[in-house]
Amino acid sequence: MTQSTAIKLHSKLPDVGVTIFTVMSKLAADCGAINLSQGFPDFQADASLFEATFRAMQAGRNQYPPMTGVPELRTAIATKVEALYGARYDAEQEITVTAGATQAIFTAIAAFVRAGDEVIVFEPVYDSYVPAIQTVGGTAVFAQLQFPDYKPDWDQVRSLISPRTRMIIINSPHNPTGSLLDAADLAALATLTRNSDIVVLADEVYEHIVFDGEPHESVARHAELAARSIVVSSFGKTYHITGWKIGYVLAPRALMAEFRKVHQFNVFTVNAPCQIGIAEYMADASRHLGLAAFYEEKRDFFRSQLAGSRFELLPCRGTYFQLARYDAISALPDREFSQWMTREVGVAVIPVSAFYHAGRDDHVIRFCFAKQASTLTAAGEKLRRI
Ligand code: PMP
Ligand code: GLN
Repeated sequence: MTQSTAIKLHSKLPDVGVTIFTVMSKLAADCGAINLSQGFPDFQADASLFEATFRAMQAGRNQYPPMTGVPELRTAIATKVEALYGARYDAEQEITVTAGATQAIFTAIAAFVRAGDEVIVFEPVYDSYVPAIQTVGGTAVFAQLQFPDYKPDWDQVRSLISPRTRMIIINSPHNPTGSLLDAADLAALATLTRNSDIVVLADEVYEHIVFDGEPHESVARHAELAARSIVVSSFGKTYHITGWKIGYVLAPRALMAEFRKVHQFNVFTVNAPCQIGIAEYMADASRHLGLAAFYEEKRDFFRSQLAGSRFELLPCRGTYFQLARYDAISALPDREFSQWMTREVGVAVIPVSAFYHAGRDDHVIRFCFAKQASTLTAAGEKLRRI
């Protein structure tokens, strides 16, 4: 159909284009570049996960599962969370399986944010938060993680809180910077939100990818914060299955009841056999507990590949992303530099300005190192030549 419509669309998201991850992955494919842009593993997940899922299909678990997720999976999540963070979430009332973290985040925002409400987010900010806030008529209020160590400034956050603040969204380990919130950060957030009606949305999708022996400071571990928080995780990151789009949400009963009111009409539920396969696979805790060491080795290997290059590597304390400054190589803005890298060098990356609403550009790019050693070696050879 080529004729343009006469309908006035009044876009809810006039400033939003196609997400940078889709743009850069497509450019990588078009140019035949090594794709270190969008965050996903280029290696296979464990066959026993597929076998468990296939068994569930053969056993006839192919119809609508419960709206909140299959009981086996909710119970497995409750067991894991209690073992790791000492927090008891009731599998029946306080855990919901979602179609990935993206849906969980959108649904949480839709459930709690009203038109005119403000939501504090931290820049650089993961790209789905602000469009979700705007779709439901809320306003994003931007706090800054301080370049170059990307620490939050809690005095700034205090100054941004208003009577309209309905939600604060945090993300640790942090995409794209690889920074972490520590116990003092959570204490500061608890103090700032005490006696308020602010809901905390904690995006913890990289909870198992924390390096150098540091703990993951889950909001679930912090009793006072947990009482006002929705905690989000994703199996995509943990079990190398980003294409399965399955995650989950933890929240105290009253918050979860509101979340589920929206969830049931947003997706209703999530595909059944994959939930059952994951539940069975999760029983072996070494699979998620071993993830930090697995990715720490990849981080160190990728950093060693870049050691002889002109990139300046920033610290990476968690996630599977490595940031780098390129001032010694080019004065181009980061979006142009990322395009040039993809087309001319043959390695696709993400420009970090894409995570700032006003396009702040510190000349920093993001590499994803969730790749086989052979991919990282091939990328390293190209990157050392620049
Ligand atoms: N939050 C962050 C910080 C992410 O990096 C991602 C995906 N990479 C998501 C949410 C979305 O996760 P999912 O693929 O499970 O929707
Ligand atoms: N979260 C992934 C990343 O940061 C991408 C997810 C997506 O493409 N929406 O690269």
